Amino acid sequence: MAIPTRRILVVEDEKAIREAVGAYLEKEGYWVTPAEDGAIALDEFDKHKFDLVVLDLMLPKIPGEEVCRAMRNTSDVPIIMLTAKGELEDRVTGLELGADDYLVKPFSPRELVARVRALLRRANVGDEPQREHLDFGDLAIDVASHKAFLAGQELDLTASEFKLLLTLARYPGRVYSRMELVEKVLGYDFEGYERTIDSHVKNLRAKLEDDPKEPTFIYTVHGVGYRFEPPIDAE
Ligand code: CA
Repeated sequence: MAIPTRRILVVEDEKAIREAVGAYLEKEGYWVTPAEDGAIALDEFDKHKFDLVVLDLMLPKIPGEEVCRAMRNTSDVPIIMLTAKGELEDRVTGLELGADDYLVKPFSPRELVARVRALLRRANVGDEPQREHLDFGDLAIDVASHKAFLAGQELDLTASEFKLLLTLARYPGRVYSRMELVEKVLGYDFEGYERTIDSHVKNLRAKLEDDPKEPTFIYTVHGVGYRFEPPIDAE
């Protein structure tokens, strides 16, 4: 079962960097759409579904911060931000803009490809939106550092308490069963779990797909699990 090519939007006004990044990602098998300014980027983003965005901070027409915020208003797509040294004070500031990861120029293309792979893998694994920061007024949760803050003061949480908070906060309003929380927070792995998921997918494919052996909605990600992706025509 072939995994369809992942689409990456590369937003960078410097032609040399845009082309180098695009060439490296294409060599890795990704489908790259280049955009040379913020306006083109948002236009492309409206028109297509992307699996990941590489976004330069300093852009003509619409700055990277605004592009990032605009994308975040409608999407949890993984975003890697590019910036020159000194454009932002530190990594945390970059992540506060809503980006998932952050690279300071000059970076090696190999490093970028590694970050892209890692983010796509994370986005594949769970069904949680891949937000690194959750903000609820006074309460802020920083996923990367496993810290939560109340009115700016760091909360002293155990690892399990943090996980419980994060699990619940990911989907405000969603009701979790005790069993789900035990599993998500304590990580109990009950026997037969994988086989159970596999048979659910098999049953769902039988109902959903024209040819369950060549699925066009639910794809197997080898060694990881499953991924949903609507056919391109359906966009
Ligand atoms: Ca730039």
